[in-house]
Amino acid sequence: MDYPTLLRIGGDWRGADDGATFTVGEPATGAAIAEVPRAGAGECRAAIIAASAAQPAWRDETAQGRGMVCHAIAERLIAAREALARLRAREGGTPLATALVEVDYAAGFFRFYGDEIVHLTGRAIAHPDPRRSLRVDYAPVGVVGAITPWNLPLAAPAKKLAAAIAAGCAVVLKPSELTPLSALALAREAELAGLPPGVLNVVCGDAAAIGGELTAHPAVRLIAFTGSTRIGRQLMAACAPGLKHVALELGGSAPFLVFADADLERAADDLATLKTTNAGQVCVTANRVLVERVVHDRFVALLVERLRRVRVGDPLDAATTMGPLISGEAAERVAGLVDGALAQGAIAALSGPRRDRFFAPTVLTGCGNDWPIARAEIFGPVAPVIGFDDEAHAVALANDTPYGLAAFAYTRDPGRQHRLARALDAGVIGINDPRPLIPSAPFGGVKQSGIGREGGSEGLLEYLDTRLIGVRD
Ligand code: ADP
Repeated sequence: MDYPTLLRIGGDWRGADDGATFTVGEPATGAAIAEVPRAGAGECRAAIIAASAAQPAWRDETAQGRGMVCHAIAERLIAAREALARLRAREGGTPLATALVEVDYAAGFFRFYGDEIVHLTGRAIAHPDPRRSLRVDYAPVGVVGAITPWNLPLAAPAKKLAAAIAAGCAVVLKPSELTPLSALALAREAELAGLPPGVLNVVCGDAAAIGGELTAHPAVRLIAFTGSTRIGRQLMAACAPGLKHVALELGGSAPFLVFADADLERAADDLATLKTTNAGQVCVTANRVLVERVVHDRFVALLVERLRRVRVGDPLDAATTMGPLISGEAAERVAGLVDGALAQGAIAALSGPRRDRFFAPTVLTGCGNDWPIARAEIFGPVAPVIGFDDEAHAVALANDTPYGLAAFAYTRDPGRQHRLARALDAGVIGINDPRPLIPSAPFGGVKQSGIGREGGSEGLLEYLDTRLIGVRD
């Protein structure tokens, strides 16, 4: 199916008020793939008005009715998975096989929240006065402004939409201008699945103007954002005057700890996968690699061996295991971090050619935990390796970051596994597990990695206000 490349506002697919457009390009080739209307504050306001008009009826729909629409969206996504994956692969540069996994993951959120909303229960609180009763109930927060990044163009919007729609909210979604096509396709599938007009609106274009309108407009009650800590902070400040709820999934600098007692082969397999999935452009991926010194050289050799097998190339070619970075700017930024580390004394255990946006897997040893390459969110297939002496040293290095999204640790020692689960300062901790993320599990960060959770029953509560209802006879 050909998906629309227009704004979705109320029941209409339409252009920008002034007819302006912007070009969406393909990271693999640099070629233009679509012209999309460039919305600003005016179109965003129209979308907020459409969402406000649609939300009361959607709120009053039964939970079963909302749940059924969520399931219908999931079914449509699965039925269209090849076409959606192709679109996602083209606009984001991720290989088809990974894009297919993202479609399934996105559908999983609609399935999970389609069930979860039916099972949501309030509770009764016993009152000492027999003529009075108290109960706790939930009501949707209202209109939600959702802002999503380019690295998960389908899954990032799906996580927010599934919970919001199930809860009875209406949404104005602003996807990244680099990858709006998957979000527009999702909106089309939702429309065809029976989601009433106005419950999901999509505007893209001038990010600052749209963000300004979403944060200033009194009808918007929650800003749900995934992106950089810098923009998350700005949005939170902009939400303060209106005391809007915020749910923020921000940056990370996940440590990947390898202890001498670990299954080194498995740790190397998992790290190679984390570093190359989506070319390392995932907020929850392993950023810094901390290795116990006694196994350092052996582990680096195992990692290099695996990364040498990575096939970098055209995301639409079935043989490709890693595509390009999202843009030339992104590739320059990663190259700058690598060159900076080499200038500081790092040694390249593995590096390769850099062509335009294509960046070969790179392993750097001898890095410092305070170097820019270890402090920054790399967002590329680069593994800076840092040695540690013992568990206390490893934990100190791991937690020495303003971020706290994820942490990974590989060890066979059960006592150490428990200690690390307590000591590592992160919202998601994977012990011998590179990806503990499924739709029924809460995902989110501590410290400067965010506020709130996506997935699980916790993720649904972000879109609900708790109400206390007292009745006296
Ligand atoms: P990334 O590093 O992933 O590009 P950003 O935080 O820059 O992270 O972008 C994430 C999302 O935030 C994108 O949809 C982007 O367009 C949007 N965005 C960028 N600047 C603003 C802003 N000032 N207000 C609202 N949204 C913004």
